[in-house]
Amino acid sequence: MSSAIILAADNRIALRRLAETLALPRLQPGWVWLAGAGPGDPGLASLHTLHGIAEADVIVVDALVNKALLVLARSDARIIDAGKRGGRPSPSQDSISRRLISYARKGLRVLRLKGGDPFVFGRGGEEALALVRANVPFRIVPGVTAGIGGLAYAGIPVTHRDTNQAVTFITGSAARGAAPDLDWEAIAKGSPTIVLYMARKHAGEIAAKLIAAGRDGDEPSAIISNASLDGQTTMVTRLAALGEASAMADAPAIVVIGENVRLAAGLDWLGALSGRLLDADPLGRSRLSDAG
Ligand code: SAH
Repeated sequence: MSSAIILAADNRIALRRLAETLALPRLQPGWVWLAGAGPGDPGLASLHTLHGIAEADVIVVDALVNKALLVLARSDARIIDAGKRGGRPSPSQDSISRRLISYARKGLRVLRLKGGDPFVFGRGGEEALALVRANVPFRIVPGVTAGIGGLAYAGIPVTHRDTNQAVTFITGSAARGAAPDLDWEAIAKGSPTIVLYMARKHAGEIAAKLIAAGRDGDEPSAIISNASLDGQTTMVTRLAALGEASAMADAPAIVVIGENVRLAAGLDWLGALSGRLLDADPLGRSRLSDAG
């Protein structure tokens, strides 16, 4: 046996021991776990998720899942790519759900692995409801969602007492890829911070709607591409320039609009690892009080 295979087996044994020590459940035959893999950094996947990868007979994987995690899979596990490939459309939601049900009914241990959190713009609820209709037992394993963990990797707290006491998560791409039909007036007035998923295409249109509803075109905004992965980048811009900036951003990208974006000047811990100097007063509070 090659040393890589022995190492992989050792890792699975280690994971099983850890899970046993902590009295965590095992993925049982005939069950489906819908598990979040986090935004990219494998270290953000939970122990339940890693344990599920190590135990599963079948793993159905979404496009945005970091495939590095699959080194933990058994060498005889069947890995099914449910993401888009080479420009071809991804398998339909129905066909994915049908597959999960048929594997579970064969008595296999099925792991459905999704990027981020399965219940955040991930259609995890739809797949789980199909399992309920088919009487297939399941467990949901939440994950670190891009709209929180991805921001944290850019040094942007999703909430901060001095900037925003509320946040709204929005999908930039609703049914059939259109911009979502929301009450933009209410969002503009009620939500100091707005996080947009899948927004590269409609970011400009959404920004225009927010400005028309009273938001300041100069409001800080950021686009974080490949959050928590090698090649992570953050573009900081103004709300009025969001559309142009998004068109230039790499995918996947998460967009955040709000004063909390300014905190990155103080909290970009990842940038600090490569030499960025952090400003201990990114909101300029002490400068304001000095002046006043
Ligand atoms: N369930 C996922 C979201 C799926 S929708 C979650 O909870 O994170 C896909 C969108 O998520 C992408 O279009 C992008 O907006 C965002 N996203 C996922 N991974 C990302 C990453 N590593 N960096 C930036 N955005 C990411």
